[in-house]
Amino acid sequence: MPGGPKVFLFDIDQTLIVSGGAGMTAMTRAFERIWGIEDGFAGVAFAGRTDPAIIKEALANHGLLEENPRPAIESFRDRYLVELRGTIKEKEGRVLPGVIELLTALQGVPHCQVGVATGNFIDGARIKLSHYGLWQRFSGGAFGDDAEDRGELVGVGIERFRQAAGADLQARDFVVVGDTPNDVAAAKANGALAVAVATGFSGEEELQEAGADIVFKDLSDTAKFLRAVLWS
Ligand SMILES: [Mg+2]
Repeated sequence: MPGGPKVFLFDIDQTLIVSGGAGMTAMTRAFERIWGIEDGFAGVAFAGRTDPAIIKEALANHGLLEENPRPAIESFRDRYLVELRGTIKEKEGRVLPGVIELLTALQGVPHCQVGVATGNFIDGARIKLSHYGLWQRFSGGAFGDDAEDRGELVGVGIERFRQAAGADLQARDFVVVGDTPNDVAAAKANGALAVAVATGFSGEEELQEAGADIVFKDLSDTAKFLRAVLWS
């Protein structure tokens, strides 16, 4: 049996859950509340990006991006979190197939830790995952508050687990699980294993081409996942 340490860093949206548009709706409402612009995120891509990057693009599109974007991002975040607490209940999302079974199985694997690497602001991640009963299954990670660039963000997550471990964790002991080419690139940039799951907008072929080490259609086959990932 493979006995080395493994730290899993899971993306949230389209990897663990779909929120039924709760995130995007909350962002759109917050943007309108603050800047009076109705469809502030029209034409802005969300998948695999960090919240600060998404907001900055929208601000730029409307000529609202200032030299120091921090205050705008922070006031947006605060309003977004208020809206998200409503939309997460309003919209019909779900936990994706096999996620609960996989997380339960990983908890039982020796020397295995499970965290998140998500572009969501930490409080947004908490609202989303708590709603689906998943928040307490993760022991930390990295969030949109930590970095605008996803590669940097994954690096922060890796560093946090390294410092907490006390043991010597190698880059290859980290497994980044996500649904977009951005997740794959972020894993690769840090020397981590890139596991991609085609439950978002990218198909298996696209994820393969993006350089994923292992690609799954979804996370429903726990045994297959464990076999492929723990032995790699
Ligand atoms: Mg995602």
